[in-house]
Amino acid sequence: MELRRERLTAEMIDPGTGEPVRTRIEVRLDPLTGHSSRILPERGLMPPSDFDLEAYAQQTQPSCPFCPDRLDRLTPRLTSRIHPGGRITRGAAVLFPNLHAYSSHSSVSVYSPRLHYLPVGDITQGLLADNLATQVAFAQAVMAAEPQSAWASINANHMLPSGSSLFHPHTQGIVDSQPTTMQRLLAGVPPQRFDEYLAAERRSGERYLGTTGRIQWLVSFAPIAPAELRAFAAGLCSPAELDDDLVGELAHGLALALGGYAEMGFQSFNCAIYGAPPGTEGYPLNLRLACRSNLKPLYRSDSTFLERLHWEGAVDCAPETVAERLGGRFRG
Ligand SMILES: [Zn+2]
Repeated sequence: MELRRERLTAEMIDPGTGEPVRTRIEVRLDPLTGHSSRILPERGLMPPSDFDLEAYAQQTQPSCPFCPDRLDRLTPRLTSRIHPGGRITRGAAVLFPNLHAYSSHSSVSVYSPRLHYLPVGDITQGLLADNLATQVAFAQAVMAAEPQSAWASINANHMLPSGSSLFHPHTQGIVDSQPTTMQRLLAGVPPQRFDEYLAAERRSGERYLGTTGRIQWLVSFAPIAPAELRAFAAGLCSPAELDDDLVGELAHGLALALGGYAEMGFQSFNCAIYGAPPGTEGYPLNLRLACRSNLKPLYRSDSTFLERLHWEGAVDCAPETVAERLGGRFRG
């Protein structure tokens, strides 16, 4: 498989020197969905966090519905048809329905009611594994009660710039009869395309990060969002099919990646684990993880008319640079 890219040049007259200057832009096509992305020269679009997150945590804590004491009173409970206990817990993680539903089954799982303040670098493998395990149990419970809700995903908006309306860190599950646009596109990719893409990235080595056992990690060739990573797990196609071993392995990879993000100065991210219906032939469970702008007053959003209205990525951190920064973590 050839990873397709077009190199463009923009020419203009420099306002200071009056001399012509050229800017190189690379347009890349995603080998799975065909969406395109523009890789721009580094120009500081994603400055590292200089915001006092801890002070903001203290400010938001007194009215937070996900903190101890309030969680039990203020969050909804699952119907007995889905889970007789009303909430699903594992370790410190607690899962309950999303008060603002996005689908017929929307969940929220907090890493811990006690962790109102949880910087990206402190999200450990253990916290991730317990949290993911609640989302897996939720997907399994919904599918058992309602087999037509076969499309599951596990997602995260971490910090306000990523779309999170509550400061208290959590993940979100969707289990529905209707796929999202990206689930539909990915489930329609011919199975051999995934193999060819991974083989091409392993061969080139420029963006391939490594394998944690059964899950392979790489930096996206044509990212939708800054510092975007992808991971692929062959042999299963829904979060509902994750066993405890794979949940642990996935949590390990996510913790490595998030530790790298924290080191690069990023404190806000999105994550999506895209499930297809269980039994979808040849579909590997896969995810995207990407940074978002850091939280601060009057910040610049990383999501522009290109991403929102053209469905076109535009990033100024080259995927190969991200791979250089994160690769060591995955290779030990
Ligand atoms: Zn809280």
